[in-house]
Amino acid sequence: MSEQEPRDFIRQIIHDDLESGKHSEIVTRFPPEPNGYLHIGHVMSICLNFGVAAETGGRTFLRLDDTNPGKESPEYVDAIKRDVHWLGFDWEDRLTHASDYFGQLHDSAVRLIELGVAYVDSLSAEEIREHRGTLTEPGTNSPFRDRSVEENLDLFRRMHAGEFGDGEHVLRAKIDMASPNMNMRDPAVYRIRHIPHQNAGDEWCIYPMYDFAHGLSDAYEGITHSLCTLEFEDHRPLYDWFLDQLQPEHRPRQIEFSRLNLAYAITSKRKLSALVEEGIVNGWDDPRMPTIAGMRRRGYPPAAMREFVKRAGVTKKDKLIEMGALETCVRDTLGDVAERRMAVLRPLKVVLTNYPEGQVETMEAMNHPANPEMGTREMPFSRELWIEQDDFMEEAPRKFFRLKPGGEVRLRFGYIIKCDEVIKNDAGEVVELRCSYDPDTRSGTGSSDRKVKGTIHWVSCEHAIDATVRLYDRLFTEANPNAASDFHSVLNPNSLETISARLEPALGELAAGQAVQFERLGYFCADEKDDADEARVINRIVTLRDSWAKLEKQAMQKQG
Ligand code: ATP
Ligand code: MG
Repeated sequence: MSEQEPRDFIRQIIHDDLESGKHSEIVTRFPPEPNGYLHIGHVMSICLNFGVAAETGGRTFLRLDDTNPGKESPEYVDAIKRDVHWLGFDWEDRLTHASDYFGQLHDSAVRLIELGVAYVDSLSAEEIREHRGTLTEPGTNSPFRDRSVEENLDLFRRMHAGEFGDGEHVLRAKIDMASPNMNMRDPAVYRIRHIPHQNAGDEWCIYPMYDFAHGLSDAYEGITHSLCTLEFEDHRPLYDWFLDQLQPEHRPRQIEFSRLNLAYAITSKRKLSALVEEGIVNGWDDPRMPTIAGMRRRGYPPAAMREFVKRAGVTKKDKLIEMGALETCVRDTLGDVAERRMAVLRPLKVVLTNYPEGQVETMEAMNHPANPEMGTREMPFSRELWIEQDDFMEEAPRKFFRLKPGGEVRLRFGYIIKCDEVIKNDAGEVVELRCSYDPDTRSGTGSSDRKVKGTIHWVSCEHAIDATVRLYDRLFTEANPNAASDFHSVLNPNSLETISARLEPALGELAAGQAVQFERLGYFCADEKDDADEARVINRIVTLRDSWAKLEKQAMQKQG
């Protein structure tokens, strides 16, 4: 182990367990239920489980926790595997399912009956609920609680053989109907469900309950530290109870940490699934979704997501983290590596009246202002150009250093131009600017060292590539949409804006999965599903932060 202080309480425990010799190897698992796609909260759990094992030379299982047939599907299994890999983790040969252990789990249930600590109850679900009591009142024993071991074994065998319908009987642990912890009031261990299973097919008609299956699966795999979220804290006594009764060879320890919640997003699979099913978003991988698949398609690099959960940290305190914190990680990751390009999102035409018709010059543009070793590309410059509508103002305030009537601005890697005339349509909207360029001011080679305050980006009309650009905003208008009684009421109606933009020619070569910075606008990538060579579809990954934009502007002014 390194000499560094462990960075959170779980790593501290693991550190201590290795020091004391309690364990010689750390074994963890990430146990998603395949009933939906993984989301940003899961990223935290994945990074923690795979992280602590990798840091100590241990092993991690990817275990599909599939004890709930009917809600689970192979589509979700495939998505989970793809997403964990993409995040940068490898389970090697340790892909398992809770359902792989159905045989052993069944035998362990039989063992509980033989030990006299489990019984078959024949009350209806409704009656069981009534017997359970409340937080303030103890429950009452079921009239079937004292069945003999023989009778329980026989009934459980017949449950297994398919002699009964769903809900007719249930196997329960015999613990304490008066326990202040509701989870200990004779919880269900096995129930009858006549439905096929996503992995086990129709081999079984009885299925183990989560609390029973989870701890034992941990034990079978030799998990040393079973890391889960705080809502399982009250289940820990039950987790330990099963292990106490059955005394498996390996004894895992459950440790809870707080869930990661992202502001303006939901991380409930049930609600995410509703967004998909109701067509509010375009699938689980819609770039507005807080799913791993959505964020991948949006263009978030996996390193940024790992960094985000690292910064969030592992604690016992509930956290609602700003979307801005995630976006900062995305920018930090892309800033040094994404090449710069020019694109005009809301085009306004500029005609350079003194530039020869038909002439095309080739401008050399740097791919990265701070990393000259990332090279240059060529940008054609001609008489008609697109600039950003925002970069022109007819009635501009004094401090507006972009284009205004009679004013001058530098075109990045090009010339200084002056706005001579504003052309409007019948509705009074500005549709074109007539400008003149100063031929002595060509970037880098200009004979004049004339300076102007503003520099703007541009694209040559004749050479531009048309593209559909998707601008994303948060899906919800409330920081904590989970708190809303109905999440539909806090949906952001403007979470997606689709515009048609003009790109510089080099963006014709933009590779799938490659992120670039559109200068002054943000980071962008081609959409992994809808983009095609003949019709580019581009996602905005994230805007530039203000301070970043300022730095970029300074760099641009220095270079001209
Ligand atoms: P849901 O309740 O929406 O179905 P879940 O938590 O039950 O989600 P699982 O597939 O059971 O989803 O989760 C797998 C693992 O990921 C569990 O160990 C769980 O504790 C962890 N996990 C789930 N959500 C979060 C979160 N928001 N933050 C941290 N860990 C999480
Ligand atoms: Mg769960």
